[in-house]
Amino acid sequence: MSPRTTFYGYEWMLDRLYSSVSAKTVKAVTRREVPKAKVLITGSYTVIRNFKDITDTLRRDIKHLMRYLLKELGSPGNYDESSGSLILHGRFSAQAINILLNRYIKMYVICPTCGSWDTVLKRKDRVWILMCEACGAETSVKPV
Ligand SMILES: [Zn+2]
Repeated sequence: MSPRTTFYGYEWMLDRLYSSVSAKTVKAVTRREVPKAKVLITGSYTVIRNFKDITDTLRRDIKHLMRYLLKELGSPGNYDESSGSLILHGRFSAQAINILLNRYIKMYVICPTCGSWDTVLKRKDRVWILMCEACGAETSVKPV
């Protein structure tokens, strides 16, 4: 590749960038990586070590994801604030937890209308609404 080609390529990209900004096109829907749970089984407990990181990435309430997992696994558990990990009272495989995490993301994070991850989960009276910041769709979701 000659430097000339590189130069034009760069200009073209800049051009594209500016035109898309000025046209105020909808935020690009970027596929995000599903965070993987880092799971550690010690004795009769299972620890999700990066639980807070996951909720931060998904922009979801710690208690909401925690309630979902405990309910689906049928296990009691508690959140350890100092380490940001979730401790489950029982032995669960990383695979089982990651499957549930994927289901949670499909149900409570990704906008069903446009597929964006830029969503907010809000409670209106007794109904939970998934509000999309990209397309503005509001979808009611099952309470946890
Ligand atoms: Zn949307």
